[in-house]
Amino acid sequence: MTVEELLIYGKKQIHSDHAKILLADLLGYNPLELLNHLNTKVADDKCNMYKEEIAAIEDGRPIQYVTGKVNFYGNQFLVNENVLIPRFETEQLVEKTIEYINRYFTDKVSVIDLGCGSGAIGITLSKKLKNVDITLLDISKKALNVAYRNALYQEVDAKFIESDMFSKVAKKYDVIISNPPYIKTNEEIEDIVKNNEPSIALYGGEEGLDLYIKILKDIKYHMNDRCLVAFEIGATQGMDVYNLIQKYLPGEIVEVKKDLAGRDRMVFILHNLEEII
Ligand code: GLN
Repeated sequence: MTVEELLIYGKKQIHSDHAKILLADLLGYNPLELLNHLNTKVADDKCNMYKEEIAAIEDGRPIQYVTGKVNFYGNQFLVNENVLIPRFETEQLVEKTIEYINRYFTDKVSVIDLGCGSGAIGITLSKKLKNVDITLLDISKKALNVAYRNALYQEVDAKFIESDMFSKVAKKYDVIISNPPYIKTNEEIEDIVKNNEPSIALYGGEEGLDLYIKILKDIKYHMNDRCLVAFEIGATQGMDVYNLIQKYLPGEIVEVKKDLAGRDRMVFILHNLEEII
């Protein structure tokens, strides 16, 4: 079949953008380039793979797991069903964290990404900032495997720790960042998320707060004298996470920030970074 025939075939079953992405990925083009190759004949094995991938998408699989890739903050990350698919919202956490690190730190910064999954957050910080010593931590060995491959692929020299949050961590850090599982046990989420992404990376107990509590219980033993803490949170959790921080770290400067859609999405702790007036 030709590229054009395959696109027509694909568009009948799935969204045309997805058909383009799958075919371009199989042929090693960028999706826009496909139009220059409409009459190119595609080998039978590639046609079959394409059809299988279309069937997987029709079956409710996220396209990122089908292609095994996702773009995050301008870099390509490998993903599989052992890790959460990095989200656009999380790019905003990274962006804001970069801003804070540039504002408050001048020398090398040690950063730990708790529950790193694919490693998208920590690896991106390493790539975008000059002087980062990054540690990627996850409870899942399979997730750490993905993070390891991403660090290798992005040429980032990272350390890896398999641990349930701080339980196996000895050191202190300048920056502690986490996008932990924070969905509430009974929260309605899209089927495509619920049926495909690892529940261990999604759910944070009844109120979705269990992992913040787990982190905050131990965090003071792992914060350097000056320390930035950055959490992604669910849209309804701003006040709850703020209150938890006041409970475990009374008197800290805490900022709850909104995403581009105007929802509470990030919480920062500025530990000895700003003068209290
Ligand atoms: N933001 C993700 C979602 O809405 C959840 C990620 C998480 O729990 N950390 O599916």
